[in-house]
Amino acid sequence: MSQSLPIARVALDLPSRQTFDYLCQGALGAALPAPGLRVRVPFGRQTRVGTVIELGDHSDFPREKLRPIIEVLDAAPVLDERLLHMLRWAADYYHHPIGEVIAGALPRLARLGARAEHLVEHWHITTDGSAALAAGEPRRAPRQRALLEHLQSLASATADELVEFHDNWREAARALAARGWIASSEQPGAAEPLRVAPGSAARLAPQLSAAQQAAVAALEARLGNFASFLLHGLTGSGKTEVYLHSVAATLARGQRALVLVPEIGLTPQLVGRFAARFEQPIAVLHSGLTDTQRLAAWRRCLSGEARIVLGTRSAALAPVPELGLIVIDEEHDSSFKQQEGGFRYSARDLALVRAQHAGVPVLLGSATPSLETLHNVALGRHQRLELPRRADQAPPPLLTLVDLRQETLTAGLSSTALQGIERHLKQGGQVLVYINRRGYAPTLLCTACGWIAPCRDCDARLTVHHAANKLRCHHCGAERQLPAHCPTCGHAVKPVGQGTERIEETLAKIFPAAPLARLDRDVVRHQAELEAVVARVESGEARILVGTQMITKGHDFPDVTLVVVLNADQGLFSTDFRAAERLAQTIVQVAGRAGRAERRGEVLIQTEYPDHPLLRSLLAEGYDGFATAALAERQQAAWPPYARLAALRASGTSPTAAIDFLSAARRAAPGSRQVKLLGPAPSAMAKRAARWHAQLLVECATRGPLHQFLDAWLPRVAELPEARRVRWAIDIDPLEII
Ligand code: ADP
Ligand code: ZN
Repeated sequence: MSQSLPIARVALDLPSRQTFDYLCQGALGAALPAPGLRVRVPFGRQTRVGTVIELGDHSDFPREKLRPIIEVLDAAPVLDERLLHMLRWAADYYHHPIGEVIAGALPRLARLGARAEHLVEHWHITTDGSAALAAGEPRRAPRQRALLEHLQSLASATADELVEFHDNWREAARALAARGWIASSEQPGAAEPLRVAPGSAARLAPQLSAAQQAAVAALEARLGNFASFLLHGLTGSGKTEVYLHSVAATLARGQRALVLVPEIGLTPQLVGRFAARFEQPIAVLHSGLTDTQRLAAWRRCLSGEARIVLGTRSAALAPVPELGLIVIDEEHDSSFKQQEGGFRYSARDLALVRAQHAGVPVLLGSATPSLETLHNVALGRHQRLELPRRADQAPPPLLTLVDLRQETLTAGLSSTALQGIERHLKQGGQVLVYINRRGYAPTLLCTACGWIAPCRDCDARLTVHHAANKLRCHHCGAERQLPAHCPTCGHAVKPVGQGTERIEETLAKIFPAAPLARLDRDVVRHQAELEAVVARVESGEARILVGTQMITKGHDFPDVTLVVVLNADQGLFSTDFRAAERLAQTIVQVAGRAGRAERRGEVLIQTEYPDHPLLRSLLAEGYDGFATAALAERQQAAWPPYARLAALRASGTSPTAAIDFLSAARRAAPGSRQVKLLGPAPSAMAKRAARWHAQLLVECATRGPLHQFLDAWLPRVAELPEARRVRWAIDIDPLEII
């Protein structure tokens, strides 16, 4: 065996921090191994698909123990140098195995070995087919005959072209192929040539306002270099227009753009706006794609065919050759953080790192920027670009706190709110009622014995769902029949508290003439249903819209003049230090739906704590004032962004397993003067889905020592005997401290 044979370091999709060394020799298929290529390798008695991350001539294992690569699957890297660099950075930063990080960047079918090229199906007539046609066949199948004649007249036709010929061509093709008269082959699809029509984007676009122009100019000046911008402007202030122009400038340089949006923000309208503006192939990536669709979209990114990649969280890891710009819309949105599983990354933070590595600008847009981002603006790391309300819009809505302690309530609705709704409906306005809880009522109570319907597997009550006649757990998904009587004493039971379903019912009784619409995950399971509800509100047919968080994002309802926030208090006294920030963002986002056209909007916020300093600062000084106050509080408490956090989370099937593991982990911690360990403590809802959850927080003023600590500590944690009895994960920059 030659000593000069290179050794490939291969990352496999395994929960192991280790990479695996293989020999490069023999018949290896498409190409010689190189970083970023997928390879098939022997692993135990099986074979696996992995990705080469490095070539070297040395291994820590004796050479004679190394096994050769079986096959190289790709002719060109599926992860280019920069993307691979970012993924390796992410594996270090999130302390997660590189194999699983890379797995997060590849569609499932690609991880299983599917080809990376975009293949196109080509159909042609065979000699037998020509002969048959000449002999007058097929006689009794006019559609088959038409298809055969069509293919006779062409050298070959792609499946897409055949759809244009006849939308039901496949049935005929199958019959003809079975007789050997036509045949198909798969050929790599040609990447579409770049068709940049300079000025075409500008032609369709509205004349930019001075503020929009300034924002686009600031960004354009930095194309080709790393720079980060916060584009701050309310919904409707024209942020998307700025994105569109910045993307146009990027494409005009022959580069590609990556646009990230929150899960719920990726609407067909947004995709349509990009598609209408650019005559350029766009790839759309989101969590609702099937495996095959995801593979197809990824191939279009990889080949460079897509000039614009538009997607949710995981699109931050998509291949984008000649990347020139990254846009992150609604950068504060928590859906950018992967909160489950092993690789808990922030797509926003990774995108920033990616832009830095690629030397391209990044544009963070929001109406309610995260405190982290505002802190970075204050430090001069991001440049702030401000979009004021457009001149043709109403003045900002009037926010009023409704003191619930002084009100009579009708199923959770104060008389002030009900009067407000009546007034606005009379004046022809639309009304939006926000409540952060779906279902009919959060509790089912027996008035005789005090029994409350509990979830068997969670520390939670079951939510009453009237229409479905079910009790459901919103934490583990458990479901059962709605009982008519108390299971312990047999008395009647009654739902207590409010959810969207009950608010809808109450409002329907009080305002029978006003058509209602509801928006929550129970009524809207698919994009099409969401579209239908939005259309009813946009057209003005529905006068009152009741909904959860879903109504706070993205949609433009210009005739809404009143917004009612039913339960602001949930966010005020949470154990999670970020709850207040989320509440302020929600209030500003829903308030942004009011009075968008000529009329000034009104926002009523129901609360039992009208003197709470957070609500006060938000009302008196708006989001910026709130952010300043909230940042001062964070600084005092040494919470992020004034400190760095990591959470070691664990869960077990016994009440003590997670705490035992975390206690052992704490004892195994290397000494460090800079790092503080907080806990372990059971999670706020300790029992969830029949598992008991707990966490141990690691806090440090700066990033360097925190990661040094984690580097030394986590390998020890993994070795703990207690680790085998729990599921655990490290969460860097955790969003929810629960
Ligand atoms: P945002 O992304 O901040 O919500 P949009 O870019 O979607 O704002 O703009 C809101 C609406 O205003 C859209 O219908 C858009 O076409 C329109 N618009 C944006 N900028 C302008 C402008 N400069 N002139 C006229 N209309 C504009
Ligand atoms: Zn449950």
